[in-house]
Amino acid sequence: MKSIFSRIFAGYLLVVFMLTITVVYFTFNTLNGNYLKTSIDNLTALNNSMKFQFIPMLKDSNYKELNHTVRLLGESINARITCIDINGKVLADSKLNPATMVNHSDRPEIIDAIAKGRGTAVRYSYSTGKNMLYVAMPIKIDSKLAGVSRVSIYMDDYDKILSGMEGKIFHVLLIMVILSLIIAYFFSQGITRPIKKLILISKAVSNGNYLLRAKFNRNDEIRTLGDSFNDMIGNMERQLEDIQMQKDKVNNIISSLQQGLLVLDAEGRVALANNSFQVLIENRNPIGKFYWELLKDKNVNKLIKRILETGERNSIEIQRMNEYFICTANKLDNNNEILVLFYDITEIKKLENVKKDFLVNVSHELRTPLTVIKGYLETIDENIDDNNKKYVSIIQNHTNRLINIVSDLLAISSLEGKSINMEVTDINIESLLHSTKFSFEQRLKEKGLSLSINIDPTIESFKGDEFKMEQVFINLIDNAIKYTESGGIVVNVINQQSHIKFEFIDTGIGIPEGDLDRIFERLYTVDKSRSRQMAGTGLGLSIVKHIVMLHNGKITVESELNKGSKFTLLLPV
Ligand code: ADP
Repeated sequence: MKSIFSRIFAGYLLVVFMLTITVVYFTFNTLNGNYLKTSIDNLTALNNSMKFQFIPMLKDSNYKELNHTVRLLGESINARITCIDINGKVLADSKLNPATMVNHSDRPEIIDAIAKGRGTAVRYSYSTGKNMLYVAMPIKIDSKLAGVSRVSIYMDDYDKILSGMEGKIFHVLLIMVILSLIIAYFFSQGITRPIKKLILISKAVSNGNYLLRAKFNRNDEIRTLGDSFNDMIGNMERQLEDIQMQKDKVNNIISSLQQGLLVLDAEGRVALANNSFQVLIENRNPIGKFYWELLKDKNVNKLIKRILETGERNSIEIQRMNEYFICTANKLDNNNEILVLFYDITEIKKLENVKKDFLVNVSHELRTPLTVIKGYLETIDENIDDNNKKYVSIIQNHTNRLINIVSDLLAISSLEGKSINMEVTDINIESLLHSTKFSFEQRLKEKGLSLSINIDPTIESFKGDEFKMEQVFINLIDNAIKYTESGGIVVNVINQQSHIKFEFIDTGIGIPEGDLDRIFERLYTVDKSRSRQMAGTGLGLSIVKHIVMLHNGKITVESELNKGSKFTLLLPV
C-alpha cells in the first residue's frame, strides 16, 4: 500500500523536476540565443569599422600591407580576420598564410554577404580545424563590390563563457530544488501527520477506547475535521452507553422472568437462556449447545424441529416430574431465531385437579339422592289430584336437569381421566346413526321436524369406540332438535379417503358469532335462560369434543343466527 505521504511527496518531486527541466531549457535557449545575437552584432560592428581601413589598400591592391594590418588587428581583438576578393580568393588572414588558403567563394557566409549584405555562419573551419562563428560583410568602393571582410571567433571561447554561466545557473537551481524538496517534505508531513493521528484514534475507538481526542493546533479544514471527529467519538460513546444501559435492562428483565426463556439460532443452537430455563434443565452453561442436547422431552424437541423447518408457531403442555409447563415456540420477527417459552402451570394444574376431584365427588354424592327423589316424585305424581300435578311436573323437570348435569359431569370426568378405556371396534355407521335417530323419533314427531341421513355408499365401517361415538351423535342430534323449531335436520357422512366427514346441519335458531369459539367449553351456554328451558347443562358439546379428540379428530362449527347451524366432524380413518 502506498502511503499518502509518499504520493504527495512524489507529486511534489515530479512538479519540481518538470519545472527545473523547463527553466533550464528555456534559460539556456534564451541565453544561447542572446549571446549569439550579441556576438554577431559585435562582429558586424567590427567588420563595419575595419572596412574603412581596408578600402585604401584594396584600391591600391597593396595586399601585403593589407595582410599586415589584418594580422595586427586580429591579435589585438583576439579574433580571426579575413579579407577576400570578389572571386573568393583570400587576400589577407590574421591566422594563416593567405597564399596557402583555398578559394572561399563557396563559404555560406561569403555567399550571403555578397547576396544579402551580411552573412553569418557557425560551422567547422577546415583552415583552423575548429568550430567557429563567422560574420562577413561586403566592402564597396564607390558603390561597387570590391571584396568581403570576415571576422570570426572560436566557438571554444563562446562555449567556455556559456558553460561558466550554466554552472552558476545549475548551482542556483540545485539549491532551489533542494529547498523545494525540504519544503515539500514538511508540507506533506503537515497533511499526513493529522491523517495518521486520526487513523490511530479510529483504531483505538474500534477497540473500545473512547478516551483519545484529535487536537490540531492550526486554523484550517484539518482542525475542523479533528473537531468533528472528536464530536463524533463523543456521540458514539454516549450512544453506546445508552445501548449498554438498555441491554442491561433487558438482560435484567429476562433473567428475572419466572418463565423459562430460550432463544435458538436458525441451526437450533442456544443463543440465550435465562435463569429460570437453566434451573429447569439443570444446566448452567447451555449457550452454544444444540436444543436436543439439553431438552430430553421428545414432544418439545418435535415442536422446535417443526418450527425450525416450517416456521409454524405452536404450543404444547409438558410434564417434568411433578411439574407442568406450557411450552410455546415462536419465530422472532427480525431474523430466523426461535423463541421458546416455558410457563409453569403446576399450580393451575393442581387447582384444576382439586376442582375435578371435587366435581366427581359431588356428582357421586348427588346421584343417589337425586335418583331417590325422582322415584318418589313419580310415586307422588300418580297419587295426587290434577291441581297439584303442575307443581310436581316443575319439580320433576328440575330434578331431571340436575340428574342430566350429574351424569354429564361424571361422563366428562371419566373422559378426562388418565386411563380412559377405549373399546375400538368396526362401527357400522349406518346402523348406529339409524338407531340414534330411532331414539329421537318421538321428539321429532312432537316438534314436527324431519331428520334425514345421507351416507356415502363407499363407506362401509369406521374404527372407533362405538359407545362413545353414539354419545357424540346423541348430543349433536339432541342439540339440533332442541334448538330447531321448524324445518329439519340433515346428517351427511362423506368419504374423504384419509378422513370421514360428518355434517350435522339444522335450520334452527343458530349461534351468535361471538359465542362460536366458546360453546365447546365446559358448562358454557349461549343464553342461560334458553338453555335451562331446554334442560341444557352446557356440558354436551364439551363431551363431544373430548370424544372426538380421543379419536384424533377435529370438530368445527359454522352458524348464522335464525338460519341454522352446521357442526362438522373430521375423523381419521
Ligand atoms: P346444552 O346442554 O346447554 O345444550 P351444549 O354444550 O350441548 O350445552 O351446547 C352449548 C351451547 O351451544 C348451548 O347452550 C346452545 O346455546 C348452543 N348450541 C349447541 N348446539 C346448537 C345448535 N344446534 N343450534 C343452536 N345452538 C346450539
